Amino acid sequence: MQETCTLLLDRLKERFPDARLLLEFRNPFELLIATVLAAQARDEKVNEVTRELFARFPTPEDLAKAPPQEVAAIVKPLNYARKKADFIQKVSEAIVTRFGGKVPASLEDLVSLPGVGRKTANIVLANAYGLPAIPVDTHVGRVALRIGLSRAKTPEAIEEDLRHIIPKDRWIEASHLLGFLGRFICEAKKPRCSICPIPDLCAYPEKSL
Ligand code: SF4
Repeated sequence: MQETCTLLLDRLKERFPDARLLLEFRNPFELLIATVLAAQARDEKVNEVTRELFARFPTPEDLAKAPPQEVAAIVKPLNYARKKADFIQKVSEAIVTRFGGKVPASLEDLVSLPGVGRKTANIVLANAYGLPAIPVDTHVGRVALRIGLSRAKTPEAIEEDLRHIIPKDRWIEASHLLGFLGRFICEAKKPRCSICPIPDLCAYPEKSL
């Protein structure tokens, strides 16, 4: 399985040499907030919102103390805006009061923040701190199951399976490559198997070639 995985990642790398996180950020704080805002929202929309948000409130201190109605107005274009506005202010406050204004670089500390789950924490660890982590978002989870890299029922268990079969030095890269595959080819409604670079490595019974 590990050999297949390496081959699969090499092929995806050829197809998606620029695979990366599509959320814009300049530091761990911006990535953490952008990721919280990105739940069930398009990355492009989140980037538009965060450009305005961080121009107005650039630090955890600024965002924690910001007038709630101003924050709510900026994040309004996103789903669940009211809830997200509340979360990002609470997260900012916790970063200031509990971590001296610096986003923690450990999974345990990150998931202790309000509204921060394991996926968000892994995104921050991998992309802001360069630490080995495999964030399993909806795209990564779907393609991992279709390809047959996991049969698990939860994102956490899928992550555990991927951690076993993907070499640790490729965890971050793998999350980007599988994410791009799911986003642009192995789409949720209908996988586009005819243009997929790994059909021979995929166990999905309904693949159409
Ligand atoms: S062959 Fe089809 S189902 Fe399998 S990964 Fe490619 S697009 Fe998805």
